[in-house]
Amino acid sequence: MLKGRVHSIETFGTVDGPGIRYIIFFQGCPLRCKYCHNRDTWKTNCGKEYTVDELAQDIMKYQTYMQFSGGGVTASGGEATLQAEFVTELFAKCKELGIHTCLDTAGFVDIEKVDKLLDYTDLVLLDIKHIDNEKCKQLTGVGNEKALKLAKHLDERNIPVWIRQVLVPGITDDQKDLEKLGQFVSTLNNVDRVEFLPYHGMGIHKWENMGFEYELKDVQEPTPEEIKRASDIVESFGVEVHNNKAAK
Ligand code: SF4
Repeated sequence: MLKGRVHSIETFGTVDGPGIRYIIFFQGCPLRCKYCHNRDTWKTNCGKEYTVDELAQDIMKYQTYMQFSGGGVTASGGEATLQAEFVTELFAKCKELGIHTCLDTAGFVDIEKVDKLLDYTDLVLLDIKHIDNEKCKQLTGVGNEKALKLAKHLDERNIPVWIRQVLVPGITDDQKDLEKLGQFVSTLNNVDRVEFLPYHGMGIHKWENMGFEYELKDVQEPTPEEIKRASDIVESFGVEVHNNKAAK
């Protein structure tokens, strides 16, 4: 039987999608973001294994909260699309049970691999790590082509999306890059929300405990003025920015 590898579960999430959400952080990530707050999710061969039915049974315990709050289930990570087949089955089960589904992804995935999953996905939280391809590679180890292609594909399929980006002072807040981001987002017709997630260094201890060097240790969190400046630049392209959470 197909099993999913799960890093952890949050039963009352309030920021990764609308309402109160049951958030499954899947194990495994192909990116290597320098600011990763979940450094311990990268490996694919650990985490706890669940079947779809096991997760569905647990999810059902929270169905009342989800229904009253307009919430549902969010598949996050790590990178949930690494286990696309399992998440497809899980989301199909959620839809059978009348539960809203949300996929939280950095978009580093081929369309063919997630198209079936998208059939059962009500909302995508798409984290565009960096709008500049080279800078994206420096920050995450991979380029942004797949994420941008997925953004366009979601638009073509008319699947609602929240576009998110971690605002890292000196790395993702260059004026020209923010203009390019605003321009790109303004071409999409399916964007319900744009959010900047303020960078924070709360994941540093995980890197250090695992014996890895954390390159961004001298980077400060953005000030409210810096967040406003970034939002204003993107909004000058007719895109509304909504900020309410910290980076994962
Ligand atoms: S921040 Fe998210 S996408 Fe980036 S390495 Fe960490 S888990 Fe993966």
